[in-house]
Amino acid sequence: MNRTYRSPLLIGLVLAITGSTAFGAEVTYIKAGSLFDTRSGRVARNAVITIEDDRIRAVGGPDTPIPAGSDVIDLSSSFVMPGLMDMHTHIVGYLERNFFAGYFQSPHRATIGGVVNAEKTLLAGFTTVRNVGAPGYADMALRDAINAGEVPGPRMAVSGPGLGITGGHCDRNSLNHAFEERADGIADGPWAVREQVRKNVKYGADLTKFCATGGVFSKGTKVGATQYTLEEMQAIVDESHTHERRVAAHAHGTEGIKRAILAGVDSIEHASFLDEEAVRMGIERDTVFVLDIYNTEYTQEMGRANGVPEENLEKDRETADRQRQSFTLAVKMGAKVAYGTDSGVYPHGDNGRQFAWAVRSGMTPAQAIQSATVVAAELLGWEDRVGAVAPGYYADIVAVDGNPLEDISELEDIDFVMKGGIVYKQQ
Ligand SMILES: [Zn+2]
Repeated sequence: MNRTYRSPLLIGLVLAITGSTAFGAEVTYIKAGSLFDTRSGRVARNAVITIEDDRIRAVGGPDTPIPAGSDVIDLSSSFVMPGLMDMHTHIVGYLERNFFAGYFQSPHRATIGGVVNAEKTLLAGFTTVRNVGAPGYADMALRDAINAGEVPGPRMAVSGPGLGITGGHCDRNSLNHAFEERADGIADGPWAVREQVRKNVKYGADLTKFCATGGVFSKGTKVGATQYTLEEMQAIVDESHTHERRVAAHAHGTEGIKRAILAGVDSIEHASFLDEEAVRMGIERDTVFVLDIYNTEYTQEMGRANGVPEENLEKDRETADRQRQSFTLAVKMGAKVAYGTDSGVYPHGDNGRQFAWAVRSGMTPAQAIQSATVVAAELLGWEDRVGAVAPGYYADIVAVDGNPLEDISELEDIDFVMKGGIVYKQQ
């Protein structure tokens, strides 16, 4: 029997009825019609992937011996790849599309929303995500529940609350001062930011996220204006790297991008107003750029109906085209660009829609897939376990019935999803 996902409650029931458990390793074979090697960019025909428990044991050719009676998953007419990775998600969140839902629903409700969103993300073929900013350490609870097998979802690297200046993009600024509204990660000054990093690490952060500039969806911030001083950014990076945590900086404006790169961050999120100097600085310092070039489609179509204020719709319009030009520039100059979509701005599960924009903005289809596999894995420091179908890696495998190298929009509709050797979706 293939190991197919069932809710833990049901599995308990089945075991109780049959009274049996499996002993020894569970071995499954996948026959892959086309297998994309994300590291070389080449496609192998009629490959056989051998999976033992949650890991890939071997990848061989069509003559790989398969013992009689083995579990075989036949994807011989499919295009097979490693599970996709989204490096900029906000999975914890409310299920209704009301921009101000957070003022009327508790953070606990948002956490339950996260459980639903995590499953949608996984079923869209994204077996690993980096979640950059969540209040109340709810992202860690979700990550831990997924890792414990209690709820289905992608592997998660999480930041906890994003750090930001008082009144900045990472703060909450909608209510008047009498409400004393303040986001969890707000810290001003080098020692205060160090304390906040330490607090995030204490509660289980895998990385640090901070806001280096204003942003699109905050009240009263200018997208192009720098927040945090160089001294504060250096303190955030130094403290995070001391604890072996990588740093993601939200940065739209050119000056803020450069300041964050100089401070030593590992990735620039959004990177909307890049110039050649900023890209060169990123290449020299091995900084990865993560540009969310799809979500404006959703914001401009549905934002008003969802209650997004005009101020924010306007900022989105000012940024969108320029960000796509920055994407093209970064790709052309050979910078590292990882796939990240800002899910939550648009509905979870549509993460694959950005691939078409990546190709339209200068990547080859192979590069676009690599940005969401090997490049993303390197950004996480997980290049030894995810992002490739290779021996020793997690058995995180997805498949589509068409060829995404010819039509990248195939990745908007993933037909097969396996994570850690367990099948979550098979059409
Ligand atoms: Zn974001």
